[in-house]
Amino acid sequence: MTVFISIRYIGVTLEIEGADMSKAHRGKGTVEFENRGRAKCPVCKRTAVKAVYEVEVGENKIQVCKQCKAGIAHGKLKEELAAL
Ligand SMILES: [Zn+2]
Repeated sequence: MTVFISIRYIGVTLEIEGADMSKAHRGKGTVEFENRGRAKCPVCKRTAVKAVYEVEVGENKIQVCKQCKAGIAHGKLKEELAAL
């Protein structure tokens, strides 16, 4: 959602784009997810963690936790991904 906020200051109008954008994976943003995004991460097998980060594994997209997202981005966890 994009919200435009206008600030009038001595006749000058500034438009700030995205000033009211929520953080999709934190706080109120997590209401959108089932169970507030908490699930079992398919990579590290931990339960009740926020598995809301989308990563591509081959042709599929899976939802993993934040730590696994970072690990995959750094080229780690290849064995765990191959086992999926
Ligand atoms: Zn994980």
